[in-house]
Amino acid sequence: MSVHALSPRASFANAGAFLTPSIAKPTPLQIAPATASRPQDDAWSVTLGAGKGALYSQAALPSFLYPAISGATAAERAVILETLDALPLKDVSTIGSIKMVPHIGNPYGGNGLVLGATRVLTGDMELSRFGNSLREVQGFAGPTGRFEPSDTVNPAMLRGTLAHEVGHGHDYQGGLVRMLTGGEESHGGPWGEPPHVSKYAETTAREDFAESYQRYHLDREQLRGTPSYDRPGLSAEKRAAMEESERLNFAERVVDNEMFRETGRKFGEITSAAPILRTGLALVGQLATLSLITGGVSRTFSGIANGNGHATVRGALDLGAGLGLGFAYANPLLGPAALALLGAKAGLDRADRDAAAPNSSHATPKVAAAAAVGGALGGVAGGVVGPLGGTALGYTVAGPIGGVVGLVVGSVSGFALGSALGAEAGIAIAS
Ligand SMILES: [Zn+2]
Repeated sequence: MSVHALSPRASFANAGAFLTPSIAKPTPLQIAPATASRPQDDAWSVTLGAGKGALYSQAALPSFLYPAISGATAAERAVILETLDALPLKDVSTIGSIKMVPHIGNPYGGNGLVLGATRVLTGDMELSRFGNSLREVQGFAGPTGRFEPSDTVNPAMLRGTLAHEVGHGHDYQGGLVRMLTGGEESHGGPWGEPPHVSKYAETTAREDFAESYQRYHLDREQLRGTPSYDRPGLSAEKRAAMEESERLNFAERVVDNEMFRETGRKFGEITSAAPILRTGLALVGQLATLSLITGGVSRTFSGIANGNGHATVRGALDLGAGLGLGFAYANPLLGPAALALLGAKAGLDRADRDAAAPNSSHATPKVAAAAAVGGALGGVAGGVVGPLGGTALGYTVAGPIGGVVGLVVGSVSGFALGSALGAEAGIAIAS
């Protein structure tokens, strides 16, 4: 089905890239204001701390959330979900929302029909009902084959377009930080070099990657039945590169199973009524990560310049944590390492508040160090076990909806509670 020869598909990838500069400098977030009113943390700072903890956990752990699907008929939704179920969860979760629309205008201004488009930062995908409802007029379409619109979406075509767009999501996994630090996966490797799987793959390295991704997965067992017609197969080199890229790390393997998929699918279903809840979460998480980095850099340098060791240490912890979260896509250990740094900082803040309290007897470096270590251990434990354990527990008790409740409760309480209890324990032991 040579749709591409006849109707180039374009992506908003380029348009999305232009969005970055305007949001590249968010206001730095601070974990918890170091106030003197130690024991009575006010409700707002507790809430804020829990919200940030949830964002940090989300950025640190492999995501298993399905996109919010809107505008689709029951039949289209079934094809979409069936296709997503057959693709790796780590790729599916890069897509924030899928919107079925009657028609997509071509962002490049040509006459070519656009079948699907995905925005990089939020993973907002649009699929064109018109574009994906074409039916072949002349049997096996070669370069000269013709297509004409039919009444209903062609399932095989929809599946192919969706897989292509998820391929873009995979290419940009890592989001903002990845884009700002050298770019997407298709930047290197064999992408952009011949042989190509389709005419459209020849246009750019990104499209080569997405077309190859589509081909790679549609060839696999789960999605067989999709006609491949006259297209050449994936070259051995590109197949090997794709295989390598799709290998799951241990953290991704923990969540790529029915329990987490069903929970993630339920989350997508719940947010379908308001997709911004799903895509906003992804975006806010990226901005929080970026603000840790930018804020960490500025606090570290101003701490050094002013000879303020206290500020320097906290700035460095933020910077390290932000980098860890930003590059967690590349190494699964970086996420938990980042939670440890954030937990250590929360521990130091707690020791500060303790020391500032009236009649405090334990304001020693030893206590601060113990609070940092305790906060780090508690932050990792709570930040990892909270969301994952909460999901597992909730799912076991009440199925997918229980999993969603467990995920939310575990996310907002896990890191905040873990780091607080850890720091408290550290202080108690040291003093
Ligand atoms: Zn594309």
